[in-house]
Order: sequence, then structure tokens, then C-alpha cells
Amino acid sequence: MTIRLEGRVALVTGAGRGIGRAVAIALAQAGAKVAALSRTESHAQETAHAIEQAGGQAIAFGGDVADSTLVDNVIEQTLQHWQRLDIVVNNAGITRDTLLLRMKDEDWDAVLQTNLKGAFLCSRAALKPMMRQRWGRIVNISSVVGLTGNVGQANYAASKAALIAFTKTVALEMGSRNITCNAVAPGLIETDMTQALSEQVREYALQRIPLGRFGTPDEIAYGVLFLCSEFASYITGQLFIIDGGLTVGI
Ligand code: NDP
Repeated sequence: MTIRLEGRVALVTGAGRGIGRAVAIALAQAGAKVAALSRTESHAQETAHAIEQAGGQAIAFGGDVADSTLVDNVIEQTLQHWQRLDIVVNNAGITRDTLLLRMKDEDWDAVLQTNLKGAFLCSRAALKPMMRQRWGRIVNISSVVGLTGNVGQANYAASKAALIAFTKTVALEMGSRNITCNAVAPGLIETDMTQALSEQVREYALQRIPLGRFGTPDEIAYGVLFLCSEFASYITGQLFIIDGGLTVGI
């Protein structure tokens, strides 16, 4: 048995790099048509190009997930293009790390806007077509720090914890429409986001990961792919931790 998503249309946010790019490509490889949204349009276009080169179908959008008008336009254009929307992966995310005492209003607002409001806007806009179809999958990319907290990440950890509560609420509200909503909590994954960590922090983190290494974007994408598939038809409101064992024993 393999996961196949032929006939499905997916929107992936933050699809221009890292985990979002891997998710977009994995969904396309399984047969889904993919709308790739990234803040920088050329990044989204590059992902769409990679999908098309491999024989898949994709369209690219550039813009901010926290912009309500932009999000509504993206979903409208996706519907015009493919007449349906089955899957939304709310992956776009940023960090603005600093200790709480030094955290500026802008640091707090930027992180909450992108990480939390973006997921709210994309989910809300996608629910209508999903309800019409009586089939939908929403996957929110949270983080293990949404469970544990993390020094220097009050804004980021709060946004990721809130995404888990948001996920459970969407699952409760939408279960009767056959729309599932789940969250994935990655541990430390090799992307531009973690490249920014100091060597000291990376070494400390590595010592605490039972599998002894950072994860790859593909290892998150496989979990997302499963949650978007028919194999996950009875899973909703859940948090899927993919962290190499980082949180085991905490
Ligand atoms: P990257 O920084 O590598 O990529 C982030 C992507 O999100 C980019 O494509 C970026 O666009 C896009 N993006 C950022 N802000 C916006 C916005 N306002 N509107 C639209 N797109 C936006 O991040 P990762 O791949 O590492 O992370 C992806 C998700 O996984 C995030 O939610 C992150 O919090 C989460 N995560 C990551 C972990 C890790 O270890 N890497 C661990 C736990 C969770 P552009 O390319 O145009 O700049």
C-alpha cells in the first residue's frame, strides 16, 4: 500500500524553502496538485518549477500569510485553477529570538502574525470549499517548543502552543463535515531556520536527541503526507511529534 493523492488539491504555506518545500514536493509526488505560497514569490516559483520538472502540477504565489486579502485571493485563484481545495498545510513560520526582558513589541507581533494568524486565515478560507466537498485535511506545523517552552523564544513558543489549541478546536468544529485537523511538532530539523543557531547551541541540542542527529525536512514531510492521506481518515485533533526522541523523558 502506498499513499496516493491523485485528484487532491493542496495549499502549502512557506513552501519556498525548508520543511514547506519538502512537504509541497512530497504531496506532489503522491499525485496532489500543489499551490505553493511563500513570502518571496521567486522561492515559491522555484518549488513549483521543481514539482513540474518531476511531472507534477503546481502554481506559485508570493505574499504574506498574515494578509487576509492575499490569503483570500490565493484560495480564490487556486479554486479557479483546479475547482477544489482538499488539503492545507500551515507551515509558514518565523523566529525573532530574544529574552523576554528584551523582546520588542515588533518581535512579538511579527511571530504571532505569521505563525498563528496565518494559520487562522488560511484555515478559515479553506473551510468553505472543504465543507462543500465533505472532505478536508488541515495540518498545522507547530513545534516541540510549543510543549516545552524555550529560553529566548517566548513569542515563538506561545505561537506554537496556540497552534495546538487551534488544531484541537478546528477538529471539534469540523469533524461532522469529514474535515480533519492535526498538528505536527518537529524537533530540530536541518533548515535555514536552524542554520542560524550557534555551534554551541547545536552541540547542546545534539546531546539531547536520542537519535543523535537533526532531522531532515523530508522526515517531517512524510509525517504530513500520512496525515493528509486516506490512511489517516480516523485521526483528528492530534499532535504528531517528530523529533528524534528529543522530548522523550521530559
Ligand atoms: P525556513 O525559515 O527554512 O522557511 C520558512 C518558509 O516560510 C520560507 O519559505 C518563508 O518564505 C516562509 N514564510 C515565512 N514567513 C512567511 C509569511 N509571513 N508569509 C508567507 N511565507 C512565509 O523554516 P523551516 O522550514 O525550518 O520551518 C518551517 C516551519 O516548521 C515553521 O513553522 C517552523 O516554525 C516549523 N519548525 C521548524 C523547525 C526546525 O527545526 N527547522 C522545528 C520546529 C518547527 P520565503 O522563502 O519567501 O522567505
